[in-house]
Amino acid sequence: MFIGHFAPAMVAAAHPKAPGLGTLFVAGQLVDFGFFAFAIAGIENFRITPGITKMVPLDLYHMPYTHSLLGSGIWAAVFALLIWIFTKNRTGALIVGVVVVSHWFLDLLVHAPDLTLAGSPPKFGFGLWNYPAAEMPLEIIITFGALAFFWMKTRSTSPKSKYAIALLAVLLAVFQTINWFGPPPESANLELKVTGLISFTAAALAAWWVGRTRTLKTA
Ligand SMILES: [Zn+2]
Repeated sequence: MFIGHFAPAMVAAAHPKAPGLGTLFVAGQLVDFGFFAFAIAGIENFRITPGITKMVPLDLYHMPYTHSLLGSGIWAAVFALLIWIFTKNRTGALIVGVVVVSHWFLDLLVHAPDLTLAGSPPKFGFGLWNYPAAEMPLEIIITFGALAFFWMKTRSTSPKSKYAIALLAVLLAVFQTINWFGPPPESANLELKVTGLISFTAAALAAWWVGRTRTLKTA
């Protein structure tokens, strides 16, 4: 799951108390931001094992702090607390927390068994990455379905809105295309980790711009 993690963010953005779309995009990928940062620091680890799943060669053998259910809950609580401190918006903070935790459940659908409840085995993962005929439509439908839902629930407040949303849609499509059809990574090197962080940041910035140019229809 890559761009599919942004689907809960775009659905949550239709709530009147939700924070901005950019914040929600960070929430949807927060534990992957954490994972790549921790991998750069050597705190968590993965390696490339061709064939570990049909679609994705990432052998995610050590990620107890970001991809355990408990760890995700802690990331969610900390991010929600920050939102509450800065906005005093309790419902908005709760929404952010739910979006952060949604990451673990979406990963659960697609990963090989590499997710834990609290950092140690048993490991869980339903392995949809072995079934591209199911995984690819699922990821496309939830992501672009959520984008269409967000589009329908909001109205433009700026003539730039259509450019912002087109940029976001193109970025999401390009990232997922490279992820699926680009050359597979040769090793879990720094370039791969930094590329991950840059792509999540670019998507969040585009989402932030979209959020700035649209408002809820009910508002
Ligand atoms: Zn993840």
